[in-house]
Parts: sequence; structure tokens; C-alpha cells
Amino acid sequence: MNSTSKRRARRLNIQKTVSIASFLLLPVTLNYFSPYLIIDGLFHGVMAGAFFVWLAFLLSGLFAGRAACGYICPYGGLQTALNEWRKKPLRLITHLKPVRYVLGLIWLGFIVYPLVASAKWPKVQPFYLTENYISVDNWAKAVFMAVIVLLLSIAPLLLGKRATCLYICPMSILNTIGTRIGRILGLPGLRLSADAAKCVSCGSCTRACSMSLKVTEMVKNETMDHPDCILCGECASVCRSGAVVRHFGRAVACGTKKRTSRSETKDV
Ligand code: SF4
Ligand code: SF4
Repeated sequence: MNSTSKRRARRLNIQKTVSIASFLLLPVTLNYFSPYLIIDGLFHGVMAGAFFVWLAFLLSGLFAGRAACGYICPYGGLQTALNEWRKKPLRLITHLKPVRYVLGLIWLGFIVYPLVASAKWPKVQPFYLTENYISVDNWAKAVFMAVIVLLLSIAPLLLGKRATCLYICPMSILNTIGTRIGRILGLPGLRLSADAAKCVSCGSCTRACSMSLKVTEMVKNETMDHPDCILCGECASVCRSGAVVRHFGRAVACGTKKRTSRSETKDV
């Protein structure tokens, strides 16, 4: 293994460790990731802590794509941990893919409606319904958290890898929207870049992809922006020929395709 491969493997380990640590912190952070508390708060004239967490997810998309799903989200961490244990490939079911967008639009509707309908701007209460600052502070809440973890484990256990991210998570569309806005505005950001000439079509990137994307095809077409990509870096880490890299920067026009000039890229 050369030094570049070692560096990428180390970064991948860091991504997995941070993601799993985020899941282990769920007893503390459960309420701060709760879409229910956002909606309940807004209907009671309150902006709960979760409102700002998900706003941060939306804004992070401008510069970091869906990396928050890959690193910060505790439910992403749950799936990272399950995948380390099961190593089950993700089953692709095309007609399930619109589900998260439909759920996401319903959630967004419930968030936007009280904001628009209320005559008064809501009060900011970061610890709304979290009096002790820690989300799980009694047995009833521990049972509630266990039920959520069990429910969100069903999709990855049955369908493999990050099936909850791909098919169910309504909040992931905030990250997707942020990413799209960042790309439309041409902001510099974390992204993948490909060099088709270096690709030997081994298929390792496609097999490794956390979201079961057809990465080899994306590399061949040099179109690495994909709404489902969580920028985990698995593909770059397994590509021995350096055909795909993750870096921070802008995309530049190259022929009819949009990609980043490889001379500008710094592998991150
Ligand atoms: S791992 Fe690298 S060389 Fe292999 S198919 Fe993917 S991009 Fe091409
Ligand atoms: S394309 Fe690469 S960075 Fe994106 S989800 Fe798949 S493995 Fe991760």
C-alpha cells in the first residue's frame, strides 16, 4: 500500500469513527435531531434546538454536499455500524427512491406552515422539552429511543448498507437542497472528481459505494455530482489507479462536462 492509499484509508477510518461516535451520542442528541420537536415547537411558537441543527444541515450542503449525512447524522452512524457488522450490499429498488422526497416535502410543509401562518416570530428555545440538556434522562425516553433505533435499523438490515438514507430519511432532502443551491451558485465545496483516462474498470468503487451508486459509470462519464452521494470517500479510498479523488474546490467546465481540473485538485 503506497502513502496515498494509506492516507485515504486513514481518512475513511476517521469518517467511520466520527459517524459511529455520532450514533453513540444519540442519548444526548436525540432531541436535537428530532424533526418532530421542530414541528411541535413551531406550532407552540418556539424554535427548538433541532430547528437550528437541521438549518445547519441545509447550510452545510452549500459547501460540503451531503457530507453531514456521512459524518454527523447519528442515524447515518447507526447504518455505518450495521454495515461494519453485516457488510450487506444495498438492494436497489428504483420505485422506493421517491419515498424520501415525498416524506421530506410533507415534513417541510409542516415546518413552513406554522412559520408562515403565525403572526409572531417564534421564540428561540434551544432546550425545548430537553430540560436537563440531555435528551434521554429517564427510562421512558430510553425505551422511545430504542424503538426509533430498531425502526431505523429495519431498512439497512433488510435492504443493506445505508438503505434508510437512500429510501426513507426525509431530512436528507435538506442536505440535497443545500448541495444543489451550492452547485447552482458555483460555490467551492467538497466534491468528487474523476479522470476517466486513469480508470481500469475494475468496479471496486461501485462495489464499495456506501449508497450503491454506479461509480464506475460516473467516473467514465466524469460526472461525479450525484444527489445520493454522501461524500464518504469510500470510492476514492479503494481506487488504486487514482481515477477518483475527493477534494475541496470548484467545478470547472471541461468540454461538455462539468468537472474539476485535476491540476487544481488536492485530495482530502
Ligand atoms: S476503482 Fe478506480 S479504476 Fe476501478 S472502476 Fe472505480 S474509478 Fe475505475
Ligand atoms: S460515490 Fe463515493 S463518496 Fe459518494 S457515496 Fe459512493 S463511495 Fe461515498
